[in-house]
Amino acid sequence: MSNNATIHSSENPFESMMSRFDEAARIIGLDDASYNVLKSPQKTVIVNIPVTMDDGKVRVFEGFRVVHNANLGPSKGGIRYSMDVNLDEVKALAAWMTWKCAVVGIPYGGAKGGIKCNPRELSKSELERLTRSYTDLMVTVFGPDKDIPAPDMGTGQQEMAWIMDEYSKLVGHSSPAVVTGKPLVLGGSLGRVEATGRGVMVSTRSALSKLGINPVGTTCAVQGFGNVGSISAKLLQMQGMKVLAISDVSGGYYNPDGINVEEAIAYRDNNSGTLEGYKGGKKINNEELLELDVTVLVPAAMEDQITHENADKIKAKLIVEGANGPTSANADEILNKKGIMIIPDILANAGGVTVSYFEWVQNRLGYFWTEERVYRRADRVMKQSFEAVYQASQKYKISMRIAAYVVAISKVAEVEKLRGKFGI
Ligand code: GLU
Repeated sequence: MSNNATIHSSENPFESMMSRFDEAARIIGLDDASYNVLKSPQKTVIVNIPVTMDDGKVRVFEGFRVVHNANLGPSKGGIRYSMDVNLDEVKALAAWMTWKCAVVGIPYGGAKGGIKCNPRELSKSELERLTRSYTDLMVTVFGPDKDIPAPDMGTGQQEMAWIMDEYSKLVGHSSPAVVTGKPLVLGGSLGRVEATGRGVMVSTRSALSKLGINPVGTTCAVQGFGNVGSISAKLLQMQGMKVLAISDVSGGYYNPDGINVEEAIAYRDNNSGTLEGYKGGKKINNEELLELDVTVLVPAAMEDQITHENADKIKAKLIVEGANGPTSANADEILNKKGIMIIPDILANAGGVTVSYFEWVQNRLGYFWTEERVYRRADRVMKQSFEAVYQASQKYKISMRIAAYVVAISKVAEVEKLRGKFGI
């Protein structure tokens, strides 16, 4: 692969993903053929989605679905609604899903979708028409044995219900396994809503134990207060950790005695989904939150929050990536030099897709598990995956991030060899 290895240095998420891929590929001595297959997505679909708005005018939205790789099984990954959605971002997020599913050993490839829109500006019926039309245009891409969407930033259970319904109508029968993250009554799984945050908590505990730090009384800051950030913060607090700061689009909130996370969640839920005006902590900005003197930092907002510009100012001993791609590749180098341990996104936030897999299994069985069973199995997957990545990091004397890529790429490349050059 040496001839193909380029140095990716910019802080675009796809370049960040590729520079880690290159490094891990070099370590495992990935051959040129596999390198060339795995560096590009297998399928990229771009659609223009016309939607009749409530005022009768038609607006056209740009939508994407990128299938990075389907070697390990049907491709899996969320759908994001955000004004920042663009092809490079979706490509990076799709590749991260391939590596994530491989790290935790679930039988899926990786994909990601997105629509460039501001969901907060759209009415519920506009969102419904947009989601259904996107599903119509993706009907040949999606499928329970082909490509299985899920929630991501800006989407949740309602969007998944519309996708399930629209797809089922198009194929002429009920097809719950085409999408995960559905409401419980529609074939969702117990524990799916909490799954990503719970995995972040389990990974944090595993990492603290390697560092010889007792979670009780240990301080942390959590960036982002959506599904992942708020549930991570809540569960970390339940482990006895002290959550000194939280943040969302309205800014950060700092309390040296610890934020009452349950109260902050209740405040957000009664305040149209934001922490705006929250009085449980002193107002700080996003940079200040990231640079706080805490032991654990959980970036759970979005990509490229820790870059070469602020990496040197990070004081945490441990970073656990709830978001996908919150640390740029340039920042990794600085953080590694400072001796900060990073539990990478493709491991730390894999609890979500793990329980998505359980949801899909339950849909196909037509038999539903108890919450206790979901948690027990998901926790086991997270702990075992953490240990496998930790062992690889010790073996090759590399960071947890590169170790996670080494574990993932080795698996996907092995399957690629067994199957032959598989194109979808
Ligand atoms: N969007 C989530 C992620 O980035 C979940 C994906 C899924 O469950 O398929 O991992």
